[in-house]
Amino acid sequence: MTTAVRLDNVSCVFGSGASAVRAVDGVDLHIEAGEFFTLLGPSGSGKTTVLRMIGGFTLPTAGRVSIGGQDMSLQPPYARPVNTVFQDYALFPHMSVRDNVAYPLMVQRSARKVSRAEREARADELLALVQLPGVGSRRPAQLSGGQRQRVALARALIGQPQVLLLDEPLGALDLKLREQMQSELKALQRRLGITFLFITHDQHEALSMSDRIGVFNQGRLEQLGTPQQVYDTPATRFVAQFVGAANVLEGAVALRLAGHPAAMLRPERITLGDAAGARASGTVAEVQYFDSFTRVRVDLGDTLLQADLPAGSAAPTAGQAAHLHWNAHAVHALNSAATAPGAPAPAVAEAGTA
Ligand code: ATP
Repeated sequence: MTTAVRLDNVSCVFGSGASAVRAVDGVDLHIEAGEFFTLLGPSGSGKTTVLRMIGGFTLPTAGRVSIGGQDMSLQPPYARPVNTVFQDYALFPHMSVRDNVAYPLMVQRSARKVSRAEREARADELLALVQLPGVGSRRPAQLSGGQRQRVALARALIGQPQVLLLDEPLGALDLKLREQMQSELKALQRRLGITFLFITHDQHEALSMSDRIGVFNQGRLEQLGTPQQVYDTPATRFVAQFVGAANVLEGAVALRLAGHPAAMLRPERITLGDAAGARASGTVAEVQYFDSFTRVRVDLGDTLLQADLPAGSAAPTAGQAAHLHWNAHAVHALNSAATAPGAPAPAVAEAGTA
């Protein structure tokens, strides 16, 4: 595989002196050609700044940004073989949908001018590709949010970028449409073979769409891996808690329950059963129903453990005794140096909504 985007020790500091913000802090990253790569992290972790440095909208204060093997660190956006889809679509309201899509061909700085007829034909092709045939003569205001997002996508693709940058493009859509667009985007990326660099703070979106995920925290890349690697074998406590729900165990509790000084146990890997052979027993503190599972919090005296039972299984009620079982392989040892020392450490932490 060839590398489409490469960051070497890239940092970005905004402001100076006491008010300086180190938005991105020494990031090394290789994104392979044809990959669907997602930067996942909480608000303010530096994802957008990384994307803007790749697009050329923000310059790094240190390090090198290469695209297609060329150093592009100081090149302006129009000189880079990338395009960006922003969350707010940024369509021109006074232009037709077709003209919006064709716009990059009209203003492109290339030797060959594309005729109006050819621009319109290409725009119609792209509109068909994003499943919006027949709306070319409408204005953006006459489309739904999801349709506008597709127009923005068509416009970003018409110049045939090597890399498409997508900054939370589905953030403004309702859940149903968002899920539909997730699978459409993924299918489109497969079909076109273009490298997609996608940004989200939504772990479900990242896990379901990506070939690989880079988990960001405070300007640093905490882990790089496939969705399965990031979920099953988080490198740090932060990743364990941000990507999915996690029981994070520390100290004496961790040694007793998991045989490690720090460990993670996913709630869906815990089952309820008999007292005989149970790894831990306690009292049910809380039961919460979700559509596809039931979340049970069990008080073990010195800690709370969360178990997610498949929907339809018999759930206990609060106050009942509960005996917890799990397979030894379900426990993932965390590097205790990588957990946050001194931070308040609730045994159960959730990320995102269920
Ligand atoms: P979100 O998901 O909320 O967009 P993010 O992970 O994309 O967050 P960034 O937008 O990259 O995060 O911001 C990283 C940090 O840099 C934040 O602390 C932010 O306030 C700061 N920052 C970003 N842009 C600027 C700027 N132009 N001037 C000063 N500080 C900035």
